[in-house]
Formats: sequence, C-alpha cells, structure tokens
Amino acid sequence: MPFVKCSVDGCNTKLQPIQKLDPRDRETWLYRECDDCFRPACEKHSTETDGRIVCDRCRRQMEAEPRPLLDLNLGRIDRPRQIS
Ligand SMILES: [Zn+2]
Ligand SMILES: [Zn+2]
Repeated sequence: MPFVKCSVDGCNTKLQPIQKLDPRDRETWLYRECDDCFRPACEKHSTETDGRIVCDRCRRQMEAEPRPLLDLNLGRIDRPRQIS
C-alpha cells in the first residue's frame, strides 16, 4: 500500500491520516487534501481559508487567473484575506 504524499512543488512529505473511519482498512482513512483539486497536500503547502483547504498550486493559479465572476467591472479584485 503506497503512502499518501503531498506532491506540491516536488514535496515528498508523507501525510498522516486526519481521520480513520476503520483503523484496519486504509481505504477509509482520510487525509488532508485540497478542496479544489482534491490532491493531498501537507500543512506547509496548503492554506486553510474559511474552512476550505487550498494547496499552494491552486492558490497560485487563482491569483494568476482571478475568477471571472468577480472580475466583471472592477478590472481588479481584492484578494481574499489570508488567515495567518
Ligand atoms: Zn489544489
Ligand atoms: Zn508539501
């Protein structure tokens, strides 16, 4: 059974399960993952904002291409506040 690893920016951190629904069945273990691309991401490479976990990869992508919905007339949108 392969380990679940963070793959953001070549990171190789093995993730610890955040929840084990059935301790004997690894298929049911839950890992920290990005809510946007659903790929596992370690705490260092993901940011939790308003209860949503977004990995650095997706965050960069969002900053590069702001969601069109928010970008209709303003030309420029305010970035969401980062919780530090
Ligand atoms: Zn992501
Ligand atoms: Zn990582």
